[in-house]
Amino acid sequence: MSAPDLQQLTPSLHRLRIPTGPAHLLNCYLWLGADGVTLVDTGWPDSAELIADAIAALGRQRADVHRIVLTHFHEDHVGSAAEIAGWSAVEVVAGAGNAAYVSGEQRGPLPRLTELEKTIHAEIDESPHGPPCRVDRQVRDGDVLDFAGGARVIGVPGHTPGSIALYLPDADAVLTGDAVAEFDGQVILGVFNTDREAAARCLAKIAATNAQIAGFGHGEVVRVDAHERIRSATDPFAPSPQAN
Ligand SMILES: [Zn+2]
Repeated sequence: MSAPDLQQLTPSLHRLRIPTGPAHLLNCYLWLGADGVTLVDTGWPDSAELIADAIAALGRQRADVHRIVLTHFHEDHVGSAAEIAGWSAVEVVAGAGNAAYVSGEQRGPLPRLTELEKTIHAEIDESPHGPPCRVDRQVRDGDVLDFAGGARVIGVPGHTPGSIALYLPDADAVLTGDAVAEFDGQVILGVFNTDREAAARCLAKIAATNAQIAGFGHGEVVRVDAHERIRSATDPFAPSPQAN
């Protein structure tokens, strides 16, 4: 077993790379609060032990996890949530528009890939769900969660309906899920969206947090002037004009 690949972003905010699986530079995030650990996304279905090792490396225990926030229902983000939710009295939080997909009550919509996205991922013909996970609390744009100085929920529909991002005041950081990504040194509009025009409109909303730090579902973290990078995000996988 290799050591967890952790990156400290602020005294309380840590990024954990999930090295397994096919996804581009997959991350989840850990917030170490005085009253417990909050996880933002949970990697693939086989990531729970790695996350436990990361928590131990940071001087906490798996029983200290008391909140999981899921940015959206995809398997590489929800994968280990159901398992981790069984470690202790964990509150599972998801966007109201995504909760039925996280819990498995409904099948989530398929992403609509552009021709360029198909060059990096085969056409997706089955909704990329994670193992079903209960949702204890559904949140909406503007809701505030009791960690990181009042983590503010940002509704970012587009990658999926009901996707959420979080702004963490105590870290001056935004965690975007798949609304935004880092790819080859560029900050880009996230890929594999159900509604990429809606997703593109969310960039300005995320940038309006004025966050210094941005942690993406995929790719490297931006640690300075993240809001400017997100406001000017590029779209290298945009549909070509003759498509549609
Ligand atoms: Zn996704």
